[in-house]
Formats: sequence, C-alpha cells, structure tokens
Amino acid sequence: MVNYKDLGLVNTREMFAKAIDGGYAIPAFNFNNMEQLQAIIKACAETKSPVILQVSSGARKYANQTLLRYMAEGAVEYAKELGWEHPQICLHLDHGDTFELCKSCVDFGFSSVMIDGSSLPYEENVALTKKVVEYAHQYDVTVEAELGVLAGVEDDVVAEESHYTKPEEVIDFATRTGCDSLAISIGTSHGAYKFKPEQCTRDPKTGKLVPPPLAFDVLEEVEKKLPGFPIVLHGSSSVPQEYVDIINSHGGNLPDAVGIPEEQLRKAAKSAVCKINIDSDSRLAFTAAVRKVFAEKPGEFDPRKYCGPARDEMTKLYKHKIIEVLGSDGKAE
Ligand SMILES: [Zn+2]
Repeated sequence: MVNYKDLGLVNTREMFAKAIDGGYAIPAFNFNNMEQLQAIIKACAETKSPVILQVSSGARKYANQTLLRYMAEGAVEYAKELGWEHPQICLHLDHGDTFELCKSCVDFGFSSVMIDGSSLPYEENVALTKKVVEYAHQYDVTVEAELGVLAGVEDDVVAEESHYTKPEEVIDFATRTGCDSLAISIGTSHGAYKFKPEQCTRDPKTGKLVPPPLAFDVLEEVEKKLPGFPIVLHGSSSVPQEYVDIINSHGGNLPDAVGIPEEQLRKAAKSAVCKINIDSDSRLAFTAAVRKVFAEKPGEFDPRKYCGPARDEMTKLYKHKIIEVLGSDGKAE
C-alpha cells in the first residue's frame, strides 16, 4: 500500500473547491510517455497551474503501471526543480471500469480515480460507484463518476451514440454514491473526430466544419440541481486546425477532424465545470511536430531530434490551454 500523500501528490477536493469559487477549471492532461509528462509539468510549473495527470487503462498497458506511478512521483520532484515551490499535482485514473482496477490504483499511490459506470443501467452505476467511493474515501482518495454517455473513441472506451446526462438523476446519484465530482455528457466527445460531417455546418470561407454547440441548457439544469458540485467535461480537445493542416500537408491524413471550439470551453470553465479533459490536442501537437521534422530533415534518425520539438510544441499547447482557455494559471503558487 502506497499513500499518495507520501509521494507529494494531492487529491482533487481543494483544487475543485477553489476552481468553482474562482470561476476557472483545472486541466486534466493524459500522459503516456516521458516527453508528454515533461511538457505538462514544465507548462504547469511555468504558469503555476494546478494539474491533474491522467492515466487511462490504455496508458497503463502501453507504458506499464509501475513505471507510470514512479514517473508521477518524479514529476513532483521535477516541478520543484523547475522552481515551483508547492506543486499541486493530482494522479488520476481515467475511465476506471471495475472496482478492482480502482482499488489497485488507490493502493498504488493514485490520489484520485474515476469509476465510469456510465454504460451500465442506472442502478448498477450507482452500486458500483458507491462501492469505489467507500473504498477510496478510507484513504482520502477522491472519486469521479459519470452519468450520461459520450460518443467517440478513447482507448478502450467506445460509444456509437451520445446520451445527454439527465439532470433529474443527478441529485439522487450524487447523494447515494457520495462521489466527489461528476462527468456529464453535454455534447463533448472523445477523439479527434468528435462530430460526423452531417452533424456540422461548413464555414463557406474556409470549407472547415463547424461543430454543433454544447448543450449549455443541460449544464445549467445540472448546476441548479447540485449547486457548487464539481462537474467534469471529458472529450474537450479543440482539434486545432493548424495542427491538422501541418499533419495533412506533411504526409498525414486526417480529413474533417473536428473538436470543441475553445470559446465554448472558456464559457464552461467559468461555470461549475472545474475539470476539463484534454488528450487529443497534445497527440496532434506531437504528431504535427514529428511529421514536420521527418518531412524537412529526412536524414534525421535521432529520436531526440524529433521528440524534442514535439515536446516543445506540447508545452506551448498546454500553456495556451492553461492561460487562454481554462484560466488556471497562477492558482497554485
Ligand atoms: Zn474520457
């Protein structure tokens, strides 16, 4: 049994309380490798932003769970080395699907876990979430749950169709499960293809797809039912068109990739939404930078010469999200 507090990590409780009061959102960035983790920590240390490091079950398979945990521990020390005196770093399991997986993360030094029972019938979601909460709270580990279904593909999480969260269920769900935060479905979606072209309109000038707006009415209803309760948005990458264009003009093929416009996320961050998950955008930044090096310097074969620029591009992206979209800069001195 490893307690996250001994690793210098924090849970989400205080982060979320401050974020709701302050009208901003905490970035939740997924990581799978060293460059990505370095970029996240550097961006957060330079902007003094609290951060949630997310590990999905896909990342656990890809990078090894033991290594990832030690990397998170190293991240706290790296942050201090960068001059961030009191790093506010949470290590979070993204989309835990069983009690056993959540328990193993709690036992292993995670400070927060998500139990995603959103694909289960309502009563089963309640029962599973409650069981995880009861276990996690013994160790002061916070728990995120989910109501409603997001469309899209994220690692092992695949859903064809989205179902908005039903506001009439949230009080019962939060009360009976005791969860600390709730991921809701209001039209965000996993992956770099968040909407089918037929769901979008096309900008006549650029020919680019314009996605349908988020269901802010559902968010407002949820906020009315649970005032001050931390709400989470998954699948909130914006799929920056400059990265898509670099990828496509350097040998890639991402036709009609489309995300959530940043002005909508900015609006959400000012509400009870206090955690915004961003994964695809950093994948795109990484890929765009690597493709550019490969196209411009075909003789390059030192991974540091293309992973380095990729890391710089991700750092730039994370800082942009923190400062321009979430407003979390300067919130963890
Ligand atoms: Zn997600």
